[in-house]
Amino acid sequence: MTGADRATVASVAARLAAAGVPSPDVDARRLVEHVTELTGSCDGCGGALLDGLVARRSAREPLQLVIGRTWFRELELRCAPGVFIPRPETEIVAGIAIDEARQHPSPIVAEPCTGTGAIALSVAVEVPGARIVATDLDPAAVDLARDNLARVLAGEAGPPLVADQVEILHGDLLTPFRSPGAHQAWAAHLEGEVDVLVSNPPYLPAADRGSWQPEVADHDPDGALVGGADGHEVVDRLLSAATTWLRPGGLVVIEIDERRGADARLAATAAGLVDVRIVADLTGADRAVTARRSRAAHR
Ligand code: GLN
Repeated sequence: MTGADRATVASVAARLAAAGVPSPDVDARRLVEHVTELTGSCDGCGGALLDGLVARRSAREPLQLVIGRTWFRELELRCAPGVFIPRPETEIVAGIAIDEARQHPSPIVAEPCTGTGAIALSVAVEVPGARIVATDLDPAAVDLARDNLARVLAGEAGPPLVADQVEILHGDLLTPFRSPGAHQAWAAHLEGEVDVLVSNPPYLPAADRGSWQPEVADHDPDGALVGGADGHEVVDRLLSAATTWLRPGGLVVIEIDERRGADARLAATAAGLVDVRIVADLTGADRAVTARRSRAAHR
């Protein structure tokens, strides 16, 4: 960055800070870099393009929507209005699923509530030979995840995929795997065949709605955030689904509300799962529940 660019970043940061943006310096740098990438130099930085983007961010539109993308593990993913923006802590949840999938020669990984496709596509590029099925209830998310899959297959999002082993279906949690919509034959009969079930479902209680930052309240879809009145509805449904969709010994990994570690542990045990663990994220907060389907044929 030249001295002039640094001066531009500083003045953008000042505008963002005045608008109450929580991370003005990082966002200012990203916006200037974005314009530099689009225009080939920062010459456009003084002009309408940067000005328009800064105005959008100042109105508390998430940075990821303003620049149309985010970074998740090894991938650069498209973000779009109306679809939940992946968070850094979910990289850890994806990492647990990836480490587990690598223990199997040709694992089947299922990811309900895929959103942008971040977890599913990370598994696809980081675990050679893995077959992945992802679902979302929201057609906008399915479209975006398929778009991101196409970009990964074209090598435009990071490490390319060797073969298309990802199936993205529209529907509720695991139910699409029971319908004939899958275009890849292996994805049509997965009950009792899944090695890793991973998800970042909606898990916040409805009462939290009033406390969100404008970026979340006005832009992330409510259906990706709130998991029923008490927040745990979808987590509980996934834990119970794990007992039928996982093969014996298979692992379920679910992102959770950091305040609900004890509840998640109890719910996993109540569902009949074993080896229940609560995993902390980099900030030390309870961020995921992991558990296994018992290897015993009859519990
Ligand atoms: N992590 C989200 C947030 O902090 C909550 C919902 C989710 O990730 N499933 O806003």
